[in-house]
Parts: sequence; C-alpha cells; structure tokens
Amino acid sequence: MYQGIMEGLLTRCRTLSALATCSLRHSRCIVRKCYHCAPGRGQRLVVSRMFQPQNLREDQVLSLEGRASDLTCKSQRLMLQVGLILPASPGCYHLMPYTVRAVEKLVRVIDQEMQAIGGQKINMPSLSPAELWRATGRWDLMGRELLRLKDRHGKEYCLGPTHEEAVTALVASQKKLSYKQLPLLLYQVTRKFRDEPRPRFGLLRGREFYMKDMYTFDSSSEAAQETYSLVCDAYCRLFDRLGLRWMKARADVGSIGGTMSHEFQLPVDIGEDRLVVCPSCHFSANTEIVDLSQKICPDCQGPLTETKGIEVGHTFYLGTKYSSIFNAHFTNAHGESLLAEMGCYGLGVTRILAAAIEVLSTEDCIRWPSLLAPYQVCIIPPKKGSKEAAATEIVERLYDDVTEALPQLRGEVLLDDRTHLTIGNRLKDANKLGYPFVIIASKRALEDPAHFEVWSQNTESRASCPSPLRSPELQSRAAESQEPGCC
Ligand SMILES: [Zn+2]
Repeated sequence: MYQGIMEGLLTRCRTLSALATCSLRHSRCIVRKCYHCAPGRGQRLVVSRMFQPQNLREDQVLSLEGRASDLTCKSQRLMLQVGLILPASPGCYHLMPYTVRAVEKLVRVIDQEMQAIGGQKINMPSLSPAELWRATGRWDLMGRELLRLKDRHGKEYCLGPTHEEAVTALVASQKKLSYKQLPLLLYQVTRKFRDEPRPRFGLLRGREFYMKDMYTFDSSSEAAQETYSLVCDAYCRLFDRLGLRWMKARADVGSIGGTMSHEFQLPVDIGEDRLVVCPSCHFSANTEIVDLSQKICPDCQGPLTETKGIEVGHTFYLGTKYSSIFNAHFTNAHGESLLAEMGCYGLGVTRILAAAIEVLSTEDCIRWPSLLAPYQVCIIPPKKGSKEAAATEIVERLYDDVTEALPQLRGEVLLDDRTHLTIGNRLKDANKLGYPFVIIASKRALEDPAHFEVWSQNTESRASCPSPLRSPELQSRAAESQEPGCC
C-alpha cells in the first residue's frame, strides 16, 4: 500500500520536474534570493503565514457575495469558503495566493502545448482603440458587452474581450511578411473584459478573466485548416494532461465570424451550454447550431442524446474575414502579395480552473487536476502539549528531508504549523483544500523507526509507514529524478 503511495508521489515529482521553471541559467542567483527558486533548508513554508481567510461559515460566504442567490454553484461556494477567491465587485474576484499558484501552473502547461506546435507568445494591450473595432463593424455589433471608455482627449477605447482586430492590424503592419514565416501562430495569456449583464458562477462567468487567445496566419485555406487541426489536437492533449473528461462540439461562429467553429466542453449539470451527442460516432454539437427537435445524428443516423457542458475552449476558422479589412498580406514564392488565411483559438484560463474544480470536487472538498494543485504535500505535526508533541522535531526534519531528497517538491510542501489545533482539525482543512498528499505525525511517529501516516487524495488511500526517506529504494529513485539545482 505504502509503496503505491510513494510511487504516486514520485510520478508526481517527475511530472513536476517537467514543469520546473528553473534551469542552470539562474546559477548566478544569490542563494534564497532567486525569484524562481523555492526556499532551501531552513526556510519552511508554513500555513500560519499564508494570506488566506480559511474556514468561512456558509453565512459568511453568502455575505461576501451580497445575495444568497449569487452563490450559484459548487466551485464558487468551495472557492469562497476556503479563501481561494474573494469578491471585489460583481463578476470580479481577487485571486488569492493558492489560486495564483494554480493559475500559473495552468499557464505553464498551456505554454508548453502552444509552443510545441510553434506558438509564439506576445502580449497586446487590454486598452483597444475604437477605430480598430469600427473597421470591422464590431464596435456596434458587440453592443453592451463591450466595456467602453474614453481617455482625457476624448479618444474612445474598449477593454478587449478578444483581439482579432488588434493582432491582424499588428501583422498587417509587418510589410515584409514572407510565406517562409508562415504558419505564424501568435498567442497571449491576458486579462479579458466582458460587461456581463448577470455575472454568476464565480470564476465561470465573470466580467474580468484570464484567457489564452491564439491567432494563426497561413498561406492558403488548406494550410489554415491544417493549422486548425493542429491547434485542436493541442487542446485535446491539454485537457487529457489535466485529467479532465472533455467533448469537442461543432459550434456557432457568433460575433467572431468565420466559417467553421468548435467548442471544447466539460460535461457537467450546471453547464450553460446544451449539447447533442451521438454515443455511436462521437458527433457532438451545440444546440445553437442544430434543430432542437433533431433526434437523429447527421453523420451516422444513430439516436442523439442531450447533455450540458461548460465551454472551456473555442476555435474558429476565420478565412480572410479580418485580414481583408486590415490588409494583412504576405509575399508568396512568386513575389505576389496575398491575403493571409486566419484562425483564432481561445481557452478560458480562470474558467478551466473553476470548471475543473466544479467537476472534480466533492460537495465539501476541493479536488484539483493533480498538475494544478497549488501545493502537492501538506505535513501536519502533532498538537502542542499532546502526548505526541515530542515528535514535532522529527516531523520538521521530515519536511526538510522531503524537500531535500525530492528537489522537484521544493516550494510544493507546506507545514501546517498551527499546532494549537488538533491534528483532526488540520486534517479536515487539508482535505478541504485538496492537497494531493498529506503526511501526519500521530503516536507512531515516536516509534523507532518513526512511522508517519500518508494520505493520498487521488486514490483516497491512507497508510502508516516508516519515514520514506530512510528507504534506500526511495533514495535511489529520488536521485534518479533529481534535476540540476539552480541556486
Ligand atoms: Zn453518429
């Protein structure tokens, strides 16, 4: 049993090392001052120092959101209860430290997938000039969803909900774009704004949120469709890596336009999108584009079933809709100037996080995709003044040993030093927050060799075992997975 847990921990370590941001290029950093590096021995991350209101009662959570009716789904309720988010104004939330860690991990996975298909990361201003939107007619078309403002000179702007105009104008400004530079895949992860009439479901439908938006430029419609499949495949890999059950459904092009569109949906009851699905051939579509009375699959004539989903990604094949307006040209092999064929691809970053919590969590406890858990391990020392208190030092040493033996876990292990609370109370909190691994020092921590209880969230298993770090097998495995340190 214990071996299974340690294997799980080690597998996690290997995955984490794939996400590590540090490399030898930080080798000149001053020890303990490198921004990228986790603390070394002697610097323990402790729960008592965390800036996070924990354990809010249901009525306190309700008062945070103002009205009871505003607490509309599980992820919103749980995230408020454990202090992962705090409302700032309707539809806008402060992301607290745990959440920022999870978002940063998600962005790293997204970066890996986007860069694996040749994506180049850029960052465009949120303040988007009205004339760009007037050029495509969307200044009027978007209506009241567009959050508009004027500067001191009376110049009009909107806070961008999407950037087709901005990116096409940017590419058009590069007069000498050659076919050799295509396909060009530009993406960003930035805050987006939408003046929602009724923000709800916490991070699922807010007025300010993080999105990854990618825009692609190709030399022909065939090439653009190849790029379209490439990006869709990257999205599938991303959701698989997060361990989420997803569906790719045919969708309406809406105000973005173009000729082909798909949505990536997480099936869940509170989902706002209604989908029809064919269990035989995996055809799936948003009911916006199929006749609601349609009961037969258009592809295989089998019976269709209906389900609800949360949209977490959306892809569009745009053709030359935007490039023709902004004159985004490239030069082909014969020196002719041609319009670029475009696609655009969104992923709701904060929405993926909330949707994952919505589908994975129990009624009372948050569960994360394991890659995104803000911290991987929580160690709970005995209560002050209890019979086991003598084991406190052994537990603290275990903290140092774990982070030393498994460098990938540096910065990922928390010590719940609130020793005025019982182990049971702290275990309850840890369970609520969903650390993948919790290590507890109970009575047997005083035995020789010391035994610890290891709880694994994902397998819901629990085992008592001697310190894993005394096992020569673990030592050698940890050595195998060791990354070059950066500080
Ligand atoms: Zn079918």
